[in-house]
Amino acid sequence: MTNIPDVTSPRVLRELLESHCLHPHKQWGQNFLIDGNIVRKIITALEAEQGDSVVEIGPGAGALTVALAGKGADVLAVEIDRGLGAMLGKILQPLPNIELLIKDALGINWRDLIAKKFPFGHPVKLVSNLPYVISGPFMYNIFQERFPFSRAVLMFQKEVAGRLVAGPGESDYSALSVLCGYFCKGEILFNVGSNVFWPKPKVGSAVILLLPRDRMLGDEEEHFIKMVQGLFRHRRKTVLNNMVSYYNLSRKKVLLLLDDSGIIPTERPERLSVEQFALLARITYNYLN
Ligand code: SAM
Repeated sequence: MTNIPDVTSPRVLRELLESHCLHPHKQWGQNFLIDGNIVRKIITALEAEQGDSVVEIGPGAGALTVALAGKGADVLAVEIDRGLGAMLGKILQPLPNIELLIKDALGINWRDLIAKKFPFGHPVKLVSNLPYVISGPFMYNIFQERFPFSRAVLMFQKEVAGRLVAGPGESDYSALSVLCGYFCKGEILFNVGSNVFWPKPKVGSAVILLLPRDRMLGDEEEHFIKMVQGLFRHRRKTVLNNMVSYYNLSRKKVLLLLDDSGIIPTERPERLSVEQFALLARITYNYLN
């Protein structure tokens, strides 16, 4: 790939942007990776191989995209910024296995897009140096779509990474942690300092590996996703009070549902495990339907 510029070189990156009259946009979280070593670590963690199907969110100037092409993966890269997309289109031109889609990743139905773009039934990997602005909503979207990926390696701001893998009772434990724990096995692979980006963000980042896990629920999943978000709205209120107001049911009825689920009524949502949330969702769903 001799004709492809090394966009992890700060000098090359700046010159490229300048020659296209572009500059990093804060509102799109444009902090570009300028460290080839971190790029390699991310691609290695993704285990990208010849013929793999990969979705990348926010390719930017192509630091990860070009490295993926080097592995022979078929990549669908989704970028919101038209200007950057035009520049990247030129950079990627010699690489036939990369498709660039100029779109807002938050507006995409991933299952439909994957079915359209990749061979039927082929596992699809996900990689991204995710812009901070969309990381929460993006993760909710892919959990809403039941995590349609076989492996994901994602870079987040450290605080978001912590929220994703937090367990019950930890201060970062949130609805996002429960959904992540339900759909995936998550692991923080390594932390990343702000020096590896240009422009330099104010906070550190972390790279997470997500693998799909066996799921406990079937038809009740939609109900579960909504219930978890609903109960975390008042994380310090008891599960009993949360359930009464969320479902608009009598205390007596909620006490029965909690008893069936083996959950102490005075417990707080922030202390319930993924399994407890799942069981409560199943029992409540069965009662309501
Ligand atoms: N992948 C590049 C890298 O690592 O150097 C750029 C990463 S930069 C942190 C985030 C990228 O996501 C930017 O290119 C930005 O324009 C893009 N982006 C931001 N919001 C987006 C959205 N809603 N949909 C798709 N791309 C988005």
